[in-house]
Amino acid sequence: MPHDLPKSYDPTAIEDRWAEYWVRENLFAQPTPEPDSASVRPPGEGFTILLPPPNVTGNLHMGHMFEHAESDILIRWRRMRGDRVLWVPGTDHAGIATQMLVERQVVSEGKTRQQLGREAFVERVWEWRRHYGGAILGQMKRLGASVDWQREYFTMDDNLSVAVREAFARLYEQGLIYRGAYIVNWCPRCQTAISDLEVVYDEHKGHLWEIRYPVHGDDGKETGEFLTIATTRPETMLGDVAVAIHPEDERYLHLHGKKLRLPLIGREIPIILDEWVSRDFGTGAVKVTPAHDPNDFALGERHHLPSINVMDDTAHINAEGGVYAGLDRYVARKRIVADLEEQGLLAGVKDHTNNIGHCDRCKTVVEPRLSTQWFVKIQPLADKAIAAVKPDADGKKAIRFTPEQYEKTYLNWMENIHDWCISRQLWWGHRIPAWHCGACRKITVARPGGSPDPTTCSHCGSAQITQETDVLDTWFSSGLLPVSVFGWPNITAENRADFDAFYPTSLLITGFDILFFWVARMIMLGCWFSGDVPMPDGSPRSLADSVPFREVYIHALVRDANREKMSKTKGNVVDPIEIVKQFGTDAVRFTLASMASPGTDIAFNVARTEGYRAFANKIWNAARFLFQNVDRAAEIGITVDPTALGGLPKAAPDAPLEERWIVAELNATAGKVNQSLEEYRFDEAASIIYQFFWGSFCDWYLEIVKLRLDFSETADKEKTKAALTTLVQVFETALRMLSPFMPFISEELWHAVYDGNPSTKSIALASYPTQNYQSDSSDPRAQYRMILLQDLIRVAREERKNRDIPEKESVPMIIISSFIQEFGTDSDDLVKQNIDIIQRLARISTITIADRRETASGDLNWRSVGFTEIALVHNKQIDVAAERERSKREIAQHEKNIANADRQLGNAGFLERAPAHIVEGLKKQRDEAKRLLDKARGDLDALPE
Ligand SMILES: [Zn+2]
Ligand SMILES: [Zn+2]
Repeated sequence: MPHDLPKSYDPTAIEDRWAEYWVRENLFAQPTPEPDSASVRPPGEGFTILLPPPNVTGNLHMGHMFEHAESDILIRWRRMRGDRVLWVPGTDHAGIATQMLVERQVVSEGKTRQQLGREAFVERVWEWRRHYGGAILGQMKRLGASVDWQREYFTMDDNLSVAVREAFARLYEQGLIYRGAYIVNWCPRCQTAISDLEVVYDEHKGHLWEIRYPVHGDDGKETGEFLTIATTRPETMLGDVAVAIHPEDERYLHLHGKKLRLPLIGREIPIILDEWVSRDFGTGAVKVTPAHDPNDFALGERHHLPSINVMDDTAHINAEGGVYAGLDRYVARKRIVADLEEQGLLAGVKDHTNNIGHCDRCKTVVEPRLSTQWFVKIQPLADKAIAAVKPDADGKKAIRFTPEQYEKTYLNWMENIHDWCISRQLWWGHRIPAWHCGACRKITVARPGGSPDPTTCSHCGSAQITQETDVLDTWFSSGLLPVSVFGWPNITAENRADFDAFYPTSLLITGFDILFFWVARMIMLGCWFSGDVPMPDGSPRSLADSVPFREVYIHALVRDANREKMSKTKGNVVDPIEIVKQFGTDAVRFTLASMASPGTDIAFNVARTEGYRAFANKIWNAARFLFQNVDRAAEIGITVDPTALGGLPKAAPDAPLEERWIVAELNATAGKVNQSLEEYRFDEAASIIYQFFWGSFCDWYLEIVKLRLDFSETADKEKTKAALTTLVQVFETALRMLSPFMPFISEELWHAVYDGNPSTKSIALASYPTQNYQSDSSDPRAQYRMILLQDLIRVAREERKNRDIPEKESVPMIIISSFIQEFGTDSDDLVKQNIDIIQRLARISTITIADRRETASGDLNWRSVGFTEIALVHNKQIDVAAERERSKREIAQHEKNIANADRQLGNAGFLERAPAHIVEGLKKQRDEAKRLLDKARGDLDALPE
């Protein structure tokens, strides 16, 4: 029987089972709509989210779990509200990371990637991916992410690769892709260019070397003068082609038009004049190495200087470096500095702190280096992407950021964007679909479709063509996802239902760390390519309908309990899978949701998770109580009609107070939860649900309803049935409200409520309670009366504690008669009508309503309860001998304190030295001690002999 819940709540036992069930039953699939219905639907209607694709090499970390919990809460909530929802999962092929990982494997077998060859190596990566690539998605399945598994994508899938090729070809034809020599961040370890965003900067204590370059006269002979330059990378001097000075620098006016002899190499190089040079930095003379520095590259372009690349792909000096050829860059640096010193050309060495860029993947120091790469001319794409975020003429924004501050960050970056280097010197990834012709040197770019690859040059027809060896930046393909997962570029009349139904997506939930990497690129590529896709009715697509998503929600970071960033080196990484094993997915999800206040990072604290496991346990126990009563009721023929479940309960006007109150509370809670989720206030929503379940439902309502569940011979069956029905209705509704936050326990208990025969396969497909709390199902009078009653009971309980009344003992209570204006509540009436509630919850034997205090007899302690006063009739039992001893000890202590204070205050030396406030304080202490002494003496006198 599903009603027979195990005595204790064991999350692992239920979670594995439901996680498997949800996937097996394919519950969260969102099939392609019928073409004819799609055409009448406004685009993007419904609620669609794309999963920021985790790397195929990845394992789930706390940041993922947080992101997925927030996404899943919204998706489940929307699904239950009846929206057509879709959450699309997938993984990214992660070019560098995956290649590095497999390369390491190959090396451990004693081979190299090069020995294997490109084709065999790529096959190895595929093989690796088939075996291990699904780890993170497997973890998502276990954690119950309600994604459509039938739509799972991988960025190297055939259909997505077609989109990548089409995008490349279109941009190329539009003149927006070019090939050129440019300074890129080169990783000598990964042997590829990496993007600016993939470079992490660290402060390093290094040196600034000052080197003397001999000046030449017009005759080509040394004048005996030197121009001293300063550099942090002396090895790059091998590639120097000039030295630049500021044209107005008075120190060097006489050197205008002169030449220098480059030390060690012997090349004659010009002194050039450029206003870019800072007169204050170093010596005011700057060596110019266009092939190894972006600023120098710009200088070189301005002054038409050659570029001399002196390093190879592994950052060893090449043949241009003369005697240093073959040396590693740092070995060469040492050798060069030593040689300069020997030749008397080293003017000085200064300590210097500089920012050094490292490869984000392998931490190798990046070498700025000239190389030939493929670029996207970014301006026209960026213009659209800016327009999509800025308000239009009517003040409307096509894409809205939450929190709003990120809009500015995004725009600032987009307005200063550089051309995007899209080529990577890797083997794993989308190989650039361009062929170089050996005959005419021109490039053939091939679209997908037809014969797979071109065999002849499209310009001269030569068969001597070879495909470009570079692959595309991973973000080029992931930036296309919003269009490509819904079928772009093949949007035909028969084949556009998905695109029409799901594009633009509704929301992107992601972290700040990929705002530029991914979010910005999706906006650029999404607006650019979908803009060419007409609307279902054939009209042109506006920018508002071209955006890849209408909203971006940037979530916080998950840090450790001390607000430190989690990192492997610090050893403070919390593994979500371990925490889930300990406390259950539901408790971890609830922790993350309840801590997700906007703009604040989460300090993940296991103690909170422990608390929410206790919360789940409380709900479990409430269910057990409920089912026991349902089963007892069944024995005497009372059953709850299952058709009464599934909506929002209503209470009859003549229903008992607690029934009217809990129904009103439930409605109000549902209203607030919906409101909070609309605003991405996961923390508020979680806290409201928590308070309802733990406080209103468990602590109050369940305690009161016990009074109504009368199964005796003499019971009024109708009343019992009504009470039981409301109880089950409220619980069932509350489970649905909880479900997006704690999907597992709510699923388990919800099936049990229906005795294993619910009307739908899952609570996730039931409807969400959406009552607006301002609607007429609210019952402010019942809520107000209940608050008064709760106040009264709370004070009575407090007073019992103060008087040490044993828990089992019931005592009489006296209440002063009063009248309350609000809602015409007569407090006497309130008490009389709910006397059983007060008696049960405060353990009161009899209640007397008195007119005034004087009429009440005995020595009573009156307590105010907000609307009236109450007193409990109870003689506090005291141990006279013990009290006497206690009073005496107290008196002795006060006397001692007074004597001490008197002694100090009588000491003239102390009074002279001590600051005034100390003396003042001491006097106050003495006065207070005297007062307490008087009171203690009075207490002692009052004690019976
Ligand atoms: Zn690297
Ligand atoms: Zn050709």
